[in-house]
Amino acid sequence: MEYPMCTLIEGGETLHSILGTMFHEFAHEWFQFMLATNESEHSWMDEGFTTYISTLASNEITKRNEKGFSPKNYGGYFYLVENGLDEPLTTHPDRYNTNVAYSVASYTKGSMFLSQLNYIIGEDNLKIILKKYFDEFKFKHPTPNDFIRIAEKVSGIQLRWYLNEWIETTHTIDYAIAKVEDKSITLARVGKMPMPIDVSIVYVDGTSEEFTIPLSMMYGHKPTNNTILKDWAWANPNYTFNVNKEIKSVEIDKSMLMADIDRSNNKFEK
Ligand SMILES: [Zn+2]
Repeated sequence: MEYPMCTLIEGGETLHSILGTMFHEFAHEWFQFMLATNESEHSWMDEGFTTYISTLASNEITKRNEKGFSPKNYGGYFYLVENGLDEPLTTHPDRYNTNVAYSVASYTKGSMFLSQLNYIIGEDNLKIILKKYFDEFKFKHPTPNDFIRIAEKVSGIQLRWYLNEWIETTHTIDYAIAKVEDKSITLARVGKMPMPIDVSIVYVDGTSEEFTIPLSMMYGHKPTNNTILKDWAWANPNYTFNVNKEIKSVEIDKSMLMADIDRSNNKFEK
């Protein structure tokens, strides 16, 4: 259990589990002791941010070389969605229908807020944002809007939509490859939550190309070497674009940072 400058750890467990507790509770010294968010109203801002940063720290220090964030870390969230247990993160902790929905929301969905932000605006931006968030709000009481404003100022990308969809609703993300015909690719937004889309294409000649489709309401895109395509307006369920060579395979979000609830429709192989 975490307190400012003091952590209580229950003994008698494995070294790995004690280390995990240490990393987690120590990270709370930042989230929410120095960055004193309201634990009842925004539990995802302390448990989620703590989970995110302690996973990165633990990977770095223990050299266990786990991938920072992957579908493995998203499993709890997918479990909630599959079982109809997911509730908005704006729910008061005492008012969740189930305990599992509260804990997965705060820890897992809260950390996914940051790992998906990495996908949306890029890892370098996210690192700067976390430091700037600390600099501007240490020993204060930041709110979700305070954080998202810093993210917007650093990245130059509009992000209010993301805060709204991920925190205030239970809309889910599901993008699919609807049709590949000759050199034309049609994608579909099956889920309600919109996201910018990274697409990897391998051509028959063995070369490959990476594309990014920004959402029009972002008014920008992450810094990337990917080919930037025209914006996707969120209301449109479909999006078609063309390439110059014969297509061998297409994949949506190779990074798997986007919490797509059905990845079976993310790949096309000729
Ligand atoms: Zn915690």
